[in-house]
Amino acid sequence: MRLGPLETRIVGTLRNMGSAPARLVRDGLREHGTKVTYATVSTVLDRLHARGLIGREKEDFKGRFRYVYRYLDIKEEFLKSIVDDVRLIFGDVDIEEIEHHLHARPTKAVEARVELEPPTFEETFPRPSIEPVSRETLYLESLRSPVNLSRFPSPRGRVYVIRERCKECHFCWELCPLDVLEISDDVNSRGYRYPKVRKGKEDACVNCGMCRDVCPEFAIYTLEVEASA
Ligand code: SF4
Ligand code: SF4
Repeated sequence: MRLGPLETRIVGTLRNMGSAPARLVRDGLREHGTKVTYATVSTVLDRLHARGLIGREKEDFKGRFRYVYRYLDIKEEFLKSIVDDVRLIFGDVDIEEIEHHLHARPTKAVEARVELEPPTFEETFPRPSIEPVSRETLYLESLRSPVNLSRFPSPRGRVYVIRERCKECHFCWELCPLDVLEISDDVNSRGYRYPKVRKGKEDACVNCGMCRDVCPEFAIYTLEVEASA
């Protein structure tokens, strides 16, 4: 069993929490100085689950669902793998030598192994607070709607996803202005869940191109289609 530095911290955080959704695990990491994005935490949690190192259950959340991740007791297997690694490199090691390191303080190198990530999109571009709109403002705004608006309907688009390119960064479905996209239950060959059109939103895409423009992997695009009558 091998765990990278971030995986180690995530399993440790989950152990303290017992079980938690990805967002709370990310908050727990941040409280202890590990700044990582939600997307990164979510991806690592999914990989740990795929390797059988943590549990995962679905729960309803705001009309959709989300995964709640659960700590599994991997202590014995983990310790055994460390000892196996030590034996593999150094042969038999004196137990007193190991005890000496067990009681020593963690080195600075261990603390520094997880590098800080850049701030999240939400931190860089915080949403402006929405002020209540007065009746007068609503009336004035209604006057600005073109009287012949019905002659110029919004365009319609069809969404295409190149699943194998997707790396589950969440950008497309989090930024779609009409909430057309959601995460799929299925994964591609690299273990990433990819976007799909939300049920009931098959005709909702307006071909705005936001999903295509934000995708770092060129994994999603839309083409304009005739609006269905
Ligand atoms: S083109 Fe715009 S409306 Fe359509 S799925 Fe992409 S972001 Fe959503
Ligand atoms: S399709 Fe692109 S933007 Fe959407 S999750 Fe996959 S990689 Fe991210």
